Amino acid sequence: MSNNMPIANPVRTRAIVNRYLMRTKKNLGQNFLVDIPAIKGIVAAADIKPGDQVIEIGPGIGSLTEQLLLAGAKVLAYEVDKDLPEILHNELPQTIDGEPLADRFKLVMKDVLKANFKEDTAGFLDLNQPVKIVANLPYYITTPIIFDLIDSKLSFTSLTLMMQKEVADRLVAQPKTKAYGPLTIAVQSRMQVELAEDVKSSSFMPRPKVDSAVVVLTPLVHKYDIEDETFFNQVVKGCFSQRRKTLANNLKAFIKDKDKREELITRLGFDLKVRPEELTITDFIKLAHALKSIS
Ligand code: SAM
Repeated sequence: MSNNMPIANPVRTRAIVNRYLMRTKKNLGQNFLVDIPAIKGIVAAADIKPGDQVIEIGPGIGSLTEQLLLAGAKVLAYEVDKDLPEILHNELPQTIDGEPLADRFKLVMKDVLKANFKEDTAGFLDLNQPVKIVANLPYYITTPIIFDLIDSKLSFTSLTLMMQKEVADRLVAQPKTKAYGPLTIAVQSRMQVELAEDVKSSSFMPRPKVDSAVVVLTPLVHKYDIEDETFFNQVVKGCFSQRRKTLANNLKAFIKDKDKREELITRLGFDLKVRPEELTITDFIKLAHALKSIS
């Protein structure tokens, strides 16, 4: 098999899977990309330039990793499947831009949720310089990974993530839509979120049951002033516990007395019949602030 063919070519992917008697592991969310234009879309969305430092989550057999390397990135990747180091080290190009693979690619065999970025990248990436995170995520842990990264001390310039379309829709949702909810607000209150591309299930091997999309998250330039993040998220979740009902109804868990509830809603300038999905992030911040001061 000619290695001139990219790993993400379906013929090459099938040959690799057969050669190493590999079984794709559903429980690890293994759906390998076999669509070069879709991968190039991820690389473009992440704006990968020569010399960029990238952390990849779940390189699999290297479909996306290879294109990141060819675009000039230095890649440190987290993987948990013990069958993959041999495949990655054999199948990725052995030299890139005249440099040996080891100078451009480092594999860390660790659950990304247990990453210690400072230790894991030591001697390979310089965390004082910009780092981009790029991944075709294992879908079973999409949201824990997103929150883990946002909460981590790692200061990254962007997160470019393939995820299932339904989660992507919730991340980019606007008020007054069905997809808008606690996940939207928890993420958009901290990150700017943009949809980069939709990806069909036929772009993967094996095909997942759902469609996918690539989302780019970048730290907000103008941060919201949220005094207590945990309480803010509790308020948002509480307000959406019955999303068909009015805000006034959902606030029962925070204020028992009906008159006091209505007085607060009116004081904040909201309609008494307002539903949670009509409130913007700024509205929820005002609400959380007011509830905190009376709790
Ligand atoms: N990047 C490859 C591609 O695009 O074809 C593979 C993507 S596949 C959807 C997800 C990868 O994440 C798999 O290789 C899987 O083994 C790996 N993975 C699953 N759970 C992980 C975890 N907790 N930490 C790091 N990698 C994980």
